[in-house]
Amino acid sequence: MSSSAPPKLPVAPAGGMPTATLNDRATQRLRGGHPWVYRSDVEQWPAVLPAPGEAMGLRDRRGRGLGIADFSTSSQIALRRLSPDPEARLNRAFFLGRLQAALAYRQALVRDTTAYRLVWGEADGLPGLVVDRYGAALVFQTLTQAMAARQDLLLELLDELLHPEVIVERNDAKVRYLEELEVRAQLLRGDSAAVAVRFNGLEFELDLLQGQKTGGFLDQRENWAAVGRYLPSDPPHGLEALDLFTYQGGFALHLARHCHKIEAVDISRPALEAAEANARRNQIANIDWIEANAFDLLREYQAQGRRFDVVVLDPPAFAKSRSALGNAERGYKEINLRALKLLRTGGVLVSCSCSHHVSEADLLSIVASAALDAGRELTVLERRTQALDHPVLLTVPETLYLKCLLFRVR
Ligand code: SAH
Repeated sequence: MSSSAPPKLPVAPAGGMPTATLNDRATQRLRGGHPWVYRSDVEQWPAVLPAPGEAMGLRDRRGRGLGIADFSTSSQIALRRLSPDPEARLNRAFFLGRLQAALAYRQALVRDTTAYRLVWGEADGLPGLVVDRYGAALVFQTLTQAMAARQDLLLELLDELLHPEVIVERNDAKVRYLEELEVRAQLLRGDSAAVAVRFNGLEFELDLLQGQKTGGFLDQRENWAAVGRYLPSDPPHGLEALDLFTYQGGFALHLARHCHKIEAVDISRPALEAAEANARRNQIANIDWIEANAFDLLREYQAQGRRFDVVVLDPPAFAKSRSALGNAERGYKEINLRALKLLRTGGVLVSCSCSHHVSEADLLSIVASAALDAGRELTVLERRTQALDHPVLLTVPETLYLKCLLFRVR
């Protein structure tokens, strides 16, 4: 046998929990309140990795504990911290506590709806878990290896807390590919994924299996209602509105109370059919549902000299990544510029962006430049974001993604 020193093994952590050593950058990010650790910031992995869903300890280069995390074998976000307490145990009581806190938050803040996001990942201390409540139905997504591994436990706890009649698994989000998880959507309980819910006094039927996201755009719910607050209650002429990228008519159906005539536009026929059915449900008959490419239609309406009192722009995320930002900015600029040319003096522009990579400051500056080019002067009525059930965690910028800016043409 050789007399040289034994190979250097990772130091066994107190309590035997496998522990990763992080570099200074990761340590600083965690201390700054952001739970993510990138793979490239892990200096040393434990000799034996825990199974997904079992905790891994975190420590800095000097051996000080930084808490416990879920880890992923494939994602660039290798670790997501669940607790800064190195002694925390990821057991039933831990997850029950987090779910109860998420529920208490919504019970205190959510108004005028039977559907809302109950759990939103990092913002609720449950990275990788999304749970939406649509009346008596629950839709969930487990978006990390660890949350997928504890899916049964989470469903058991949700069942205890809420007794849902319908449970839908919407694990068809693309991020599951990054986690090397199977992509699937299915009804786990109940006979039908079609549910009726109420938003701000309007009834909507949503399909929790086929609908976008987990069935609809819950995050715009408070913004749908907000626009009407800026419209005159007894206008000298009937107001005309144009709702571009309407999907299932969220803004249009809310505007129907305030406007004489609304045109609602989407490129998707099935979305418009669902929107029209929702209009009928609410005895709303003053909306024309138009299947068109919004970019083409704006150009046409400009050429025809059409005029509106309200224009809503709520396009899909043009910037899915930072590198797509240049093209996205051109897209936002074009639709805002053309929309402004269609607005009457005193008219209202509602300009949204759901790209996290486009900040509120970016969007304000895009609209400012569009207004200058269109020769219009705008005042800011309100700067809004996603509904309160999608909380913005102050130290996690990724949790702020939706911008909904309201302007008035001077
Ligand atoms: N405003 C909706 C959400 C819109 S989601 C709400 O508040 O609920 C974005 C919508 O844009 C989708 O329905 C999609 O079909 C539509 N869309 C995407 N590209 C489009 C285009 N070029 N022209 C018109 N609609 C488009």
